[in-house]
Amino acid sequence: MRRLNNYLNGSWVEVESEGAVPVYNPATGEVIAETPLSTHADVARAVEGAKRAFASWSRVPVVKRARVLFDFLAKLKAERDNIAKMITTEHGKSYVDAQAEVDRGIEGIEHALSAPTLMMGESLAEVSEGLEQTYYRYPLGVVASITPFNFPAMIPLWVMGWAVVTGNALILKPSEQTPMTTLRLIEMFHEAGLPSGVLQAVNGGKEAVDAILTHPEIVAVNFTGSTRTAAYVYETAARHHKRVQAFAGAKNHAIVLEDAVLDPTVDGILRAAFHNGGQRCMATSVVVAVGSVADEVVERLAEGARRMKIGHGFEEGVDVTPLIRKEHRDRVRAYVDEAAMSARLVVDGRPAIEEHPEGFYLGPCLLDCVTPDMRVWQEELFGPVLSVVRARDLDEAIAIANRSRYANGAIVYTQSGKAAQVFRDRIDAGMVGVNVNVPLPVAFFPFGGHKDSFYGVTGENGKELVQFFTRKKVVSTRWF
Ligand code: NAD
Repeated sequence: MRRLNNYLNGSWVEVESEGAVPVYNPATGEVIAETPLSTHADVARAVEGAKRAFASWSRVPVVKRARVLFDFLAKLKAERDNIAKMITTEHGKSYVDAQAEVDRGIEGIEHALSAPTLMMGESLAEVSEGLEQTYYRYPLGVVASITPFNFPAMIPLWVMGWAVVTGNALILKPSEQTPMTTLRLIEMFHEAGLPSGVLQAVNGGKEAVDAILTHPEIVAVNFTGSTRTAAYVYETAARHHKRVQAFAGAKNHAIVLEDAVLDPTVDGILRAAFHNGGQRCMATSVVVAVGSVADEVVERLAEGARRMKIGHGFEEGVDVTPLIRKEHRDRVRAYVDEAAMSARLVVDGRPAIEEHPEGFYLGPCLLDCVTPDMRVWQEELFGPVLSVVRARDLDEAIAIANRSRYANGAIVYTQSGKAAQVFRDRIDAGMVGVNVNVPLPVAFFPFGGHKDSFYGVTGENGKELVQFFTRKKVVSTRWF
């Protein structure tokens, strides 16, 4: 069994502890590697090297730092399809979705090339007579990133590009469930000329995270994962006086109004709900069908869901791929079992479990007449389950969506500009779509949700990450 290593000071280093967790191919159930569980000592070793690297890297002019990213970018583009294959193998998502994921990560690195501009401060020549003031941005020091299983390329790429180009040294802890893609990206960054120690990979789970959250020399933590872990990370890091932001879970609502153009609407919702097995923080998991359109929406969604192709990620034209782990699949299935007792299970994806015993499969499930008192509406399932709630009008639909504890994305499907405007202004969500199935902000727009979908102030992407990964110094100057 291939046991993975940490990547410290420019080379692969064995983790001393015996503890490890398996990495699976979710399409076959086969164990393909073992993630070692780093301890406090492993994290301390990573921080030591990062501290040394920071001393010199932070003094490399930002233009030169950006040049290293430029070379990394060329490698990423050349190896795009190999990385996508790694993603499909350890995560299970379709090869097409994996390629799209790498492309979104590449866009993050491309945008990070604008660091010299985005790191500029501001000046005023005369704040009072003979006195000028300027603020400059400086890197923070040794910072950390903790990433989730579902985007093992995109999220690490977004964070590592900006953390490093702004002059920090980064300790990155990949998800223990999908570490191989992230580790390869970190190795590639070094092949492109990143000095050793600037980017340290530490494998592991809770102990590694705790070591990061409590280490006195890590000054900032950027986290993405479930709401439960995000809350823990946010509170613990803050208690240890670190700068912290935590991107968390979601329950994204799509409101379908009576004037929606149903063909692309239904098609878009199906893809947003069921591709990647629903394991996306931007997945649509609730449709709020408004007024007289509800029956037709449910009927069309059911037809489409029944037609979806279930299979492994390398199959041509596949729609619904396996879930990350058997335990996770069984947990999602239990939600469907429970919901089927109170809501109407229109499409039942559970037989796929027996039809595809080779991996962690669950077919698309569609529930109608779901209400906000049901757990299936309240909680993030992170699986191929779409709930339909019926509402009288737009006001009621918005009120339902706004009752959720989550507020990551939200979408309205309509032909009415006025309705779209009302929705935009009243909906409580960080990323809003108007007839857009997955309203993912591009690399130069801020990314992040509200309420229990995000704990923090700034956000992901460009300017937001420059703010997060730098601190300002205001200099007042007078000459006699
Ligand atoms: P997770 O919370 O289980 O794990 C995320 C990270 O935290 C991993 O690196 C893991 O090792 C670590 N971790 C897990 N349990 C921990 C614990 N008890 N203590 C300390 N650290 C712990 O999340 P996941 O299952 O890997 O990812 C899926 C979740 O991430 C979903 O909830 C999804 O919505 C969310 N997500 C959110 C965004 C966003 O931008 N809002 C993006 C992607 C994923």
